[in-house]
Amino acid sequence: MQQFQQYIDGAFDDGAAQFDSLDPATGAPWARMPEASVADVNRAVEAAERAFLSSDWALMTATQRGKLLLKLADLVAENAPRLAELETRDTGKIIRETSAQIAYVAEYYRYYAGLADKIEGAHLPIDKPDMEVWLRREPVGVVAAVVPWNSQLFLSAVKIGPALAAGCTVVLKASEDGPAPMLEFARIFDQAGFPKGVLNVITGGAEAGATLTSHPKVDHVAFTGGPETARHIVRNSAENLASTSLELGGKSPFIVFEDADIESALNAQVSGIFAATGQSCVAGSRLVISNTIKDEFLERLKVKAQEVVIGAPDDMATEVGPLCTLRQRERAIALIKASEQQGAKVITGGSALEGDGFYFPPTIIDCSDAPEADCITNEFFGPVLSVLSFDTEDEALEIANNTAFGLASGVFTNSLTRAHRMIRGIRAGIVWVNTYRAVSPIAPFGGHGLSGHGREGGIQAALDYTKVKAVWLRTSDDPIPDPFVMR
Ligand code: NAD
Repeated sequence: MQQFQQYIDGAFDDGAAQFDSLDPATGAPWARMPEASVADVNRAVEAAERAFLSSDWALMTATQRGKLLLKLADLVAENAPRLAELETRDTGKIIRETSAQIAYVAEYYRYYAGLADKIEGAHLPIDKPDMEVWLRREPVGVVAAVVPWNSQLFLSAVKIGPALAAGCTVVLKASEDGPAPMLEFARIFDQAGFPKGVLNVITGGAEAGATLTSHPKVDHVAFTGGPETARHIVRNSAENLASTSLELGGKSPFIVFEDADIESALNAQVSGIFAATGQSCVAGSRLVISNTIKDEFLERLKVKAQEVVIGAPDDMATEVGPLCTLRQRERAIALIKASEQQGAKVITGGSALEGDGFYFPPTIIDCSDAPEADCITNEFFGPVLSVLSFDTEDEALEIANNTAFGLASGVFTNSLTRAHRMIRGIRAGIVWVNTYRAVSPIAPFGGHGLSGHGREGGIQAALDYTKVKAVWLRTSDDPIPDPFVMR
């Protein structure tokens, strides 16, 4: 079996302990992964702190940091096929998506490379004639980045890119499920020429994650994962009082009005819930459909769902591969069973596929008679679409906003005025109109409520890895007047 290594302080090692990683397409172990011990996590944070304080990094110009990030972007692009192959092997995510997505990950590094020397301070028009006051934007410090198993290269790029552009150093904990692409990424990063310790990559589960995110030398925690784990992260950060950014899950509404381009809406809905085998935080997992077109839309969607090519994730023809873990599949089955007991009706799919691997078919559940069913309120993180319907626009908005999450949303309509009303009314961090599942390094990404806080992508994300220092400089040569009066 292939052995992967962790990356601490610019060196690779097997870790004190190892665990087997399973191939989701077969369920069989295929590689050995290092499991970071508490001592490994401490070593990684200390290396990141040393790097943060070292003149090699602290005194490097922002332009030079940008050049290193640019080199990293080129290396990611060059190695994209290998990274894609590993992500597909270790997480089951289909090669069709990993190969396109990882080539695009390079663009995120390129974007933050360009931004590094555009993070500016400010001069203040202060209300005192003998003072010059300006703001320096300084890196926040050591960043603990924790990512889930889906799209790890992407989800870590939106943390590592802006953090390094701002001058921070990072300890990234890859998910214990499917960490291979991140450990391979560490090898690529090592070739880019950054000083040692600027990025450290480890893996392991809750213990490693808790040690990292509560470490006294960590200044900021950037987390992507589920809301339950996020609660632990926030509690952990009570130890170090680190700032946090939380990118969590969703139960995003996909709203289709009767005046929409139906074929386009159907394809976008297929993309929104079945692409990435539904293991996407922005999955459009709640279809909210006008009653006037519900029957026709569901009939056509069912045909499309049944035509989806299910197969080996490394086959370019495959459209839906296995779920990443058996745990995910068991959870989906349990949620569907409970929802059926609550009155929801499975239209297609709904049970595990026979054979090896963690396969689960595209599934559609009509919840018209069970609007509060578990499948409406819980995130599946699988290819399962729950359906509700409406008569009026107000009702559509009410259903869309009736969720504890607030990450993404989709609106399909050909009415410009209606689109604007929906954009204004929807409570979510992203509204896609007549499209779905589009991302870019230039556009911020994130949610509110149970979907978390903070934004990744865009300029603000880099600023969030900085803190402001106010500098006061007195320009008068006269002695300081009355010392007992605050000036
Ligand atoms: P998870 O929350 O179980 O795990 C995420 C990470 O947290 C893993 O690396 C895990 O090891 C670590 N972790 C677990 N316990 C911890 C603890 N006590 N302290 C610190 N770290 C700990 O998530 P998952 O099941 O791997 O991924 C699925 C979830 O991620 C879904 O809810 C999905 O919506 C969400 N997600 C969100 C986004 C987004 O950008 N909003 C993107 C992808 C996935």
